[in-house]
Amino acid sequence: MINLMSDTVTQPGKTMREYMMNAEVGDDVFGQDPSINALEAKMANMFGKEAAVFCPSGTMTNQIAIKVHTQPLDEVICDHLSHIYQYETAGYAYNAGVGINLIEGTNGKITVSQVEAAIKPVFDWLPITKLVVLENTCNKGGGSYYTLDEIRPIHQLCREKNLKLHLDGARLFNALVETSESTIDVGALFDSVSICLSKGLGAPVGSVLIGDSDFINQARRVRKVMGGGMRQAGILAAACIYALDNNIDRLKEDNIKAKELGNLLIKMPYVEMVRPVKSNIVLFDVRAPETAATFREKLEQQGILASSFGPQTVRMVTHLDYSEDKHQEVLSKLEAMSH
Ligand SMILES: *Cc1c(COP(=O)(O)O)cnc(C)c1O
Repeated sequence: MINLMSDTVTQPGKTMREYMMNAEVGDDVFGQDPSINALEAKMANMFGKEAAVFCPSGTMTNQIAIKVHTQPLDEVICDHLSHIYQYETAGYAYNAGVGINLIEGTNGKITVSQVEAAIKPVFDWLPITKLVVLENTCNKGGGSYYTLDEIRPIHQLCREKNLKLHLDGARLFNALVETSESTIDVGALFDSVSICLSKGLGAPVGSVLIGDSDFINQARRVRKVMGGGMRQAGILAAACIYALDNNIDRLKEDNIKAKELGNLLIKMPYVEMVRPVKSNIVLFDVRAPETAATFREKLEQQGILASSFGPQTVRMVTHLDYSEDKHQEVLSKLEAMSH
């Protein structure tokens, strides 16, 4: 099977496993795991921040950020397609006791004027707007991304209005290989940054939350209460370090393959529309009477796995284990499906 359901499906390769085998480990709840400490220091440095904390998932890093940046009865502003709203089981309400103020952006991206219009005035009967969350790249937005120039005015507004700004950067590096912008410049615009190492970067497990020392000290307490304090997890952190050192530049290949899939799909009679392909995600609608379910079934018979993102919407994500050979096979099978 050629698995394009997500870039989370990658298998740790031989060299990555050797790194994991050889990792120095300790008890991270006591702060004594050298591999985790090294990963946290590396990522804090990359983004020009003071500290970082290693977590089992990107859901946890996002949830911790929301919890630390807010008080119950506050409110978070984000796009309606955001992962924190769509795919984290309403954790903002459960973990942080906050409301959510959804903006209808364009392909998952929101603008400074939309954010400004969404900020609530202070009255007893309204939640207090406290946090803005941007997602880069935007998953349900079809892999669209923000440039720094688009983020800067939002950063400025947040400063003026005393709002915190968090980046859900699950796939940030898929954007940065396109824009050639630096992690330091990204870090300067956000109070906190969440990065997934288990997506396109190819580590088996792990996300890192980055911020200033006070924020990360509180984040460590919240990680513990969520049950995310792990012991000799340096085995996992070693895979993440390997991923950062070896798998960032090659994300460009994933983005190119995704674009090629999009270019072919848009010409196929069974495709209604393809969201603009900007990174490694291809989000497209199949044409009735085909549905996402019937189309996925046909794909599966061809040995290709994709996920469904709505009644007509199918998602394919390219990744480290999607080789050029597999890519050519998928392209020719997709083309043959029109006959
Ligand atoms: C995958 C993802 C996350 C985190 O997901 P986990 O599966 O919990 O690691 C967060 N935000 C976005 C945009 C994602 O795509």
